[in-house]
Amino acid sequence: MSSIQPVRGTHDLIGEEQRRHTLVVETARRIAGVYGFDEWSTPIFEETRVFSRSLGDTSDVVSKEMYSFNDRDGESLTLRPEGTAAICRALVSNALTQALPQKVFYTGPMFRHERPQKGRYRQFHQIGAELLGAAEPLADAEVIAMGYAVLSALGVAEHVTLELNTLGDAESRDAWRAALVAYFSDYRDRLSEDSLVRLEKNPLRILDSKNEGDRALVADAPRMAEFLTPQAQDFWDELRAKLDVFGIRYKVSPGIVRGLDYYNHTTFEFVTTRLGAQGTVLAGGRYDGLVKQMGGPDVPAIGWAAGVERLAMLLETPPQAPRSVVIVPVGTPDEQALCGILQALRGQGVRTEIGYKGALRKRMERAAKQNASHVLFVGEDELARGLFRVKDMESGQECEVSHQALMMDAGSVFA
Ligand code: ATP
Ligand code: MG
Repeated sequence: MSSIQPVRGTHDLIGEEQRRHTLVVETARRIAGVYGFDEWSTPIFEETRVFSRSLGDTSDVVSKEMYSFNDRDGESLTLRPEGTAAICRALVSNALTQALPQKVFYTGPMFRHERPQKGRYRQFHQIGAELLGAAEPLADAEVIAMGYAVLSALGVAEHVTLELNTLGDAESRDAWRAALVAYFSDYRDRLSEDSLVRLEKNPLRILDSKNEGDRALVADAPRMAEFLTPQAQDFWDELRAKLDVFGIRYKVSPGIVRGLDYYNHTTFEFVTTRLGAQGTVLAGGRYDGLVKQMGGPDVPAIGWAAGVERLAMLLETPPQAPRSVVIVPVGTPDEQALCGILQALRGQGVRTEIGYKGALRKRMERAAKQNASHVLFVGEDELARGLFRVKDMESGQECEVSHQALMMDAGSVFA
């Protein structure tokens, strides 16, 4: 039998890869806390309709990327392809629309049936933030500032650019959509097959097309900016003024329409040139209509999601593997005393392991191989004297420490 491999587009996270991943998630969680966000966890699968209607039937995600299946009761379920729709569902299910605003941070695996390539997987992970119940541009600016703070804390901010756009309000969007339909209708013969369908069903989607021929047409398509209502224009102006106050630099990019249908007003992406074609690391926007679609009241909202794998790849200095103190028994010391020391060190929060088998030399070799910070020698003699030899594996120097010091202040012995 050939060896069993993980499913195409999925990965095991081991060693440095897991450490990078953990650093990204923990950093984001910490920054989210600083900005006053609470963490929520929602199930990994939902009723299919949570995603199908909200993301838009013609979005790539819904039309070709969802992992949907009928469970044993015949109910259609879907492995979540993204977090926002599920968070809005949770807001409504838990009657939290009575307790607004809610500031939510989440993290976890997402599933999309995409063509696997660098930075694009079938199971990947996101961190995300949603601010539910705030309609003013200050909320948008805060949420963007928080995303930027995460990138800064990870040390990748200097490699990303914030691209910002507005999709306006419903009225602006209707006018724009009409102009787009008129424009693209003149080029029916040059549009991709997918985009011909989009032209009928959801013309804005053409702007997000990855097809090269489409992209050439998109470059000269009517711009949203020409169709903004005075209110939408005010919102847009105020958002940019607030970003200036927060010291966040951006580039206005009319092409940022996002892959999902639920956005209005603000859309943005933090992009990098360092990851090849998969350059978007953090993206989001305002989605004032989504909670209502989930059966709740009108709740204005703004949020973003970021790809953990892409951020993990961007980290310049990978987090170091943790180093242990390794206890190496000399001869055959009393086991109870040995375990007592092991327990005492661990009780003080010192990462401690014990070298088991083999001659002293073998144990030392193993300690070096597992990148021990220190070796603590424990033999009958040491136990009797209450004095132990410690070898600093970095410098190679040895010194003696007392039993008392190990019991009371192991942290500074092995600092
Ligand atoms: P793209 O245009 O790259 O397909 P998207 O618009 O589908 O991205 P979102 O749904 O906004 O992406 O997801 C937010 C972030 O999640 C992306 O910016 C990216 O960093 C990450 N992401 C999305 N899909 C994948 C995937 N298949 N594999 C790894 N990361 C992903
Ligand atoms: Mg996509």
